[in-house]
Amino acid sequence: MALPGILLVEDDDAIASGLTRVLDSQGYRVRRLALGRPALAAAGEDIGLVILDLGLPDIDGIDVCRTLRATRPELSILILTARDHELDVVAGLDAGADDYLIKPFRLSELLARVRAHLRRGELAAVAT
Ligand code: CA
Repeated sequence: MALPGILLVEDDDAIASGLTRVLDSQGYRVRRLALGRPALAAAGEDIGLVILDLGLPDIDGIDVCRTLRATRPELSILILTARDHELDVVAGLDAGADDYLIKPFRLSELLARVRAHLRRGELAAVAT
């Protein structure tokens, strides 16, 4: 069975291309979008994890997170943002995110979190 796909929602081209390259090299199928609205339609059944920026050009990532959580309860959502205030973290997790990582981030830590979330998703898939 193929690894579940990762949807990367990030408007910063430098971060997005670097992350896509690294995730790709780890064997993940990565789809990148620079806007929040298209991400709502793109997070289909083949996507196991969404890595979500909050400062997006069209809609706030928090709204993307809330909508994704309402429509895909089993989806893993990892917020990756420069918003580092305690209340931002709380808002992100309360909006349905499973994880919250602040930029600048350590790549090895992000990859470890990606593995953890996809592992959890696989277990959930086996259980159902
Ligand atoms: Ca951004």
